[in-house]
Amino acid sequence: MVETYKAFIGGEWVDGAGGGAFPVYNPATDEIFAQVATCTPEDVDKAVKAAAAAAPAWGMMPMSARAKMLLKVSQLIMQNLNEIAALETAEHGAPIRNSAGFQVPQIADFFEYAASISRSLTGETLPIGPWCTSMTVREPVGVVGLITPWNVPALMVAWKLAAALVTGNACIVKPASVTPLTTLRLAALCKEAGIPDGAVNVITGPGSTVGEALVAHPGVARIGFTGDTSTGKRIMSLASGLAKPVGLELGGKNAMLVLSDADLEAAVEGAIWGGFFNNGQVCAAASRILVHESLYDEFLQRFVEAAKQIRVGDPMNPETVLGPVPFKEHRDKVESYIASAKAEGAKLVLGGERPTTPETQKGYYLAPTIFADAQNSMTFMQEEIFGPVVGVATFKDDAEAVALANDTSYGLSASVWTKDFKRGLGLARQLQVGTVWLNEHLMIFCEAPWGGCKASGYGKDLSTMVLEEYTTVKHIYMDMNEGPVKPWYGLMK
Ligand code: NDP
Repeated sequence: MVETYKAFIGGEWVDGAGGGAFPVYNPATDEIFAQVATCTPEDVDKAVKAAAAAAPAWGMMPMSARAKMLLKVSQLIMQNLNEIAALETAEHGAPIRNSAGFQVPQIADFFEYAASISRSLTGETLPIGPWCTSMTVREPVGVVGLITPWNVPALMVAWKLAAALVTGNACIVKPASVTPLTTLRLAALCKEAGIPDGAVNVITGPGSTVGEALVAHPGVARIGFTGDTSTGKRIMSLASGLAKPVGLELGGKNAMLVLSDADLEAAVEGAIWGGFFNNGQVCAAASRILVHESLYDEFLQRFVEAAKQIRVGDPMNPETVLGPVPFKEHRDKVESYIASAKAEGAKLVLGGERPTTPETQKGYYLAPTIFADAQNSMTFMQEEIFGPVVGVATFKDDAEAVALANDTSYGLSASVWTKDFKRGLGLARQLQVGTVWLNEHLMIFCEAPWGGCKASGYGKDLSTMVLEEYTTVKHIYMDMNEGPVKPWYGLMK
């Protein structure tokens, strides 16, 4: 049965102003299973008005009251875990073991974390002099637009939404059109938790129309964006006309450095996890694996053997490790990178084709793919593929490893595998990225800041730093002098 979903504006479920709808496919079956309201710029305007109406009261509510509502959202997410996980698997193709065992619990955890850190938000008193009291207070930005991608759809929304809400902002979320359903479900749980109408709005429809209208709307004070670097650049240029601040979490081309003294078994496991988790559709995926020449042959042989064991298939099967990619055009794009790697001379040592099992014939499946003898200059080693395709290259010494790792326009994350932490830390300081893991990859958690440099964007999600993204600092100065005595009098009389 094809279900119909509406947008969520001002606490009401509404059709788009144009009355249209767009389909959502189940990538495991290539069948449409939902229709979602196509919003228009008119709906964006309605959402901005609803958010602006809600913002003053929501922003003035005690932090503790907002925090309690977020805790309630967290509880509701866990109570509805199986249903939300099944929805994510249906719209995205994420194996149920990931959506139920990892992604949805992480969403609940982040709402809980945001509630807990919000209450430690403070201002400062400033030592200007005895004649005054001078202080800073952090205030909500107002109405914020949150634009999110499809790769871990509800989690990417949660990171921004929970932080923006708890700091008192009224939010308008624009989820990716491929995966809007879990975001709509999250909005329903926010309402159920008592978050007032208008504080959470979800507009659905194309980024090229409603996304741009949200960025360009003068009533939206700030944009939080996660997505492709080219979209981020477009958003920056639209926002610049209004001098509107934007936070950008963009793409990555992350290197995994396996040094000469690495624990090989741990590094192979790390490469499987970092390279193929979520089909490699992770901004921090270990898509460039750089291995010291002394370990290269053994690493490659073990890595290929381990990758052969990955079960690709029906994402609703709890045994499945990799499901389909979320949409047909994305599979085409990944396949074009496989073709380019072959054409540029990389050696295909695993995959490169669609799997042939009966259960994978209808959906958008890809086999885990490994290229050896990769050169860092090859297109597939420079551009973000966002698929289950990994390139393995070799290096001679640590200096060359760092140079190769940094030789990319991106700067999101990297990992270093070594038994010598002093050596690892030395390399970590030289890597031009937002996060470095030693003997680990893709370990992202609430307490640590997340965000990149270079073409991977700027600003931080997660940690207490995210509270700064969604608040603005106001300085308040109080003159304590009695009578007309001012430090500047001598200059004016
Ligand atoms: P896109 O940039 O294509 O889309 C992201 C969001 O932006 C979608 O909601 C999209 O809407 C919207 N959008 C598209 N065009 C515009 C526009 N002109 N104006 C405003 N909004 C627009 O990214 P993907 O969804 O393909 O996501 C994958 C990307 O996200 C990868 O590059 C990945 O690295 C990055 N990412 C980064 C993370 C990080 O923390 N650094 C984390 C996760 C992903 P619509 O879907 O309707 O087109």
